[in-house]
Amino acid sequence: MAFELPPLPYAKDALAPAMSAETLEYHHGKHHNKYVTTLNDLIKGTEYESQSLEDIIRNTAGKPDKKKIFNNAAQHFNHDFFWKCMKPGGGGKPTGELARKIDESFGDYETFRKQFADEAGTHFASGWGWLVSDGSKLKVISTHDAENPLHMGLRPVITCDVWEHAYYIDYRNERPKFIDAFLDNLVNWDFAAQQL
Ligand code: FE
Repeated sequence: MAFELPPLPYAKDALAPAMSAETLEYHHGKHHNKYVTTLNDLIKGTEYESQSLEDIIRNTAGKPDKKKIFNNAAQHFNHDFFWKCMKPGGGGKPTGELARKIDESFGDYETFRKQFADEAGTHFASGWGWLVSDGSKLKVISTHDAENPLHMGLRPVITCDVWEHAYYIDYRNERPKFIDAFLDNLVNWDFAAQQL
C-alpha cells in the first residue's frame, strides 16, 4: 500500500512565531511530501511495497544498493515523528515520569537541555538531534542525513530536524536560536512521555 503524507497535527500557523506557517508550508508540504512520493515510486513492485515503514527502514539499513529506499523511508519516519514532537505552547521542563527519567539519566533538566542544544546545534551538516531510550536510560545523540535510531536498537523519544530547510526561513544561518525555540517553545513533552 502506498504511503501518504500525514496531515500536520496542528494548523500551519499554530507554531508561529517559533516556527512560521511559511516554514511548515515548505517543510511539510514540499520536503516531507517529496520523501513520501519518492519512497512510493522506489518501492512500487518490490518486496518492500507490502512492508511497514519501520520494517522497510530496518530491512534496508546499511545496504548500499538500498540506500535510496532507506533514505526516503527514514526521512518519512523522521519528519512524521518530528511534527508530533512539537505543539503550540510547548517547550520548557517536562513533568512526571519523563522528568524523573531525565533527572536519573542526565543529573537534571538543565544538563539535559545543554547537552541536547550542543549536540543538535553543532551537528555538522544535515541531520537530526535525538533524545532516545536504550531501554534503561535516556541519551542524547545526533544522526547524519536520514539516519534514524530505529535500526540501532534505540527508541526515539524526541527529535529535532537540523537540516537547513527546518530553520532557514525563520532563523537564516542561526541554528542555535532555532534549537532554543524548539526546546523552550515547541517541544511536546506529552508526546515524548508516550514514547517511554
Ligand atoms: Fe526536514
